[in-house]
Amino acid sequence: MKLYNTLTKKVEEFIPYNEKKVTMYTCGPTVYHYAHIGNLRTYIAEDILEKTLNYLGYNVDRVMNITDVGHLSSDADTGEDKMVKGAKREHKTVLEIAAYYTDCFKHDCERLNIKWPDTVVPATTLIPDYIKFIEGLLDKGYAYLASGNVYFDTSKLDDYYKLTNHNAEELLSGVRDTVEEDTNKKNKNDFVLWFTKSKFEDQELKWDSPWGLGYPGWHIECSCISLKYLGEHLDIHCGGVDNIFPHHTNEIAQTESYIGHKWCNYWVHTEHLNDSTGKMSKSNGEFLTVDLLVNKGYNPLAYRLFCLQSHYKNQLVFTYDSLDIASNTYNKLLSKIKLVKKDDSVIDQESFDKYNDEFKSALADNLNTSNALTVLYDVLKSDLNNNTKLSLIESFDKVLSLDLLKEDKIDEDLVSYIEKMIEKRKIAKQNKDYELADSIRKELQEQGIILKDSREGTTYEVVK
Ligand code: AMP
Ligand code: ZN
Repeated sequence: MKLYNTLTKKVEEFIPYNEKKVTMYTCGPTVYHYAHIGNLRTYIAEDILEKTLNYLGYNVDRVMNITDVGHLSSDADTGEDKMVKGAKREHKTVLEIAAYYTDCFKHDCERLNIKWPDTVVPATTLIPDYIKFIEGLLDKGYAYLASGNVYFDTSKLDDYYKLTNHNAEELLSGVRDTVEEDTNKKNKNDFVLWFTKSKFEDQELKWDSPWGLGYPGWHIECSCISLKYLGEHLDIHCGGVDNIFPHHTNEIAQTESYIGHKWCNYWVHTEHLNDSTGKMSKSNGEFLTVDLLVNKGYNPLAYRLFCLQSHYKNQLVFTYDSLDIASNTYNKLLSKIKLVKKDDSVIDQESFDKYNDEFKSALADNLNTSNALTVLYDVLKSDLNNNTKLSLIESFDKVLSLDLLKEDKIDEDLVSYIEKMIEKRKIAKQNKDYELADSIRKELQEQGIILKDSREGTTYEVVK
């Protein structure tokens, strides 16, 4: 298995610390709002990585955090707190917001066939661990107290920037342009480990600590959660490219200072999905969510296919035109597969192994999902017997997770109910009763039945 490692800036052979168990940590969502489909591109790539490792015979122990406290809207320990902002926006408590958006995220993952990691840990559940960790850093001289906050002292490290491609000055000027400086810091890139004094006195969640009532800085949760559940030798740490600096840079700084040795060997980062205006956003322009795609009549798995068609190390631009193309490709692929009927042919093991090896090689080559899809098409085009084809498709779908062999589960009662509702809506429209027509569409939508109008009439799709 070869992976691009941000730490060495090379594609490298993957060698885990322990051959029997790969440890994998993925930064989870900040649950102050819905995930956008850009965020979900990263989770799809991580899902592919985990499933590929399994497919290649590794046993994977995967952990993900849920950021339900202390993620600032600027990455430089200033700016507004995202969770507090979300709670204010919706007149709810921070924990209510966190519970609601965690469920929404889980639902998005289900619809995109992203496996929920084995261990998912909300940041607020490990406060005593953060305190112990910060005490350790203070004891070792890597942290200092200033005006009530505890800071990490980046000047204590020779290789603070080892994960980034940029030099220190570039990074600093980027940060300087966008945020106010915190005058308590000894060095520009020092970051807060524990806040007791913050500009945001409206913090809802605060805990007792040796430094007073306060709350943790953002980066600490991933270090402590990973150490607790995966130990001091981590194989793979994942996230989107925006996490490289400062989040992962700071994670490495504090974790390695605390444990006193190298922590994680492979850093895997997914490139961004952008919209046509550039950066994807939750506040400006169209907020692209899975719900929005479903409401527009798209199957979420067409979006998964759209992601798999490109390499996770390349930036990807989202447009509805390209999603339409992916959607068509997905439907055609399913129709082709439907033509392959189970029969009494005997599985040709030699051919099975040949195609399966090609599929594995594509994925083992730094997760080349588009080449893996090509192998799937090669199988469909081949003259293999049906059962060998079906067996290969079933096997490939363990990684691709595109529901390639899923039977249409719509029973007859449901079909007749949907048809009746479509007819009722048609009559409502003829009578210009658009309110009723809309309410019928909505009622069906709530049950996962999406109507699509065209010149030929109304069709529907049942999504999860
Ligand atoms: P957040 O909820 O902001 O902490 O982000 C969740 C994950 O999405 C992180 O791994 C980010 O690096 C990643 N991410 C953020 N924006 C994008 C984007 N436009 N495309 C791909 N991944 C993203
Ligand atoms: Zn993280």
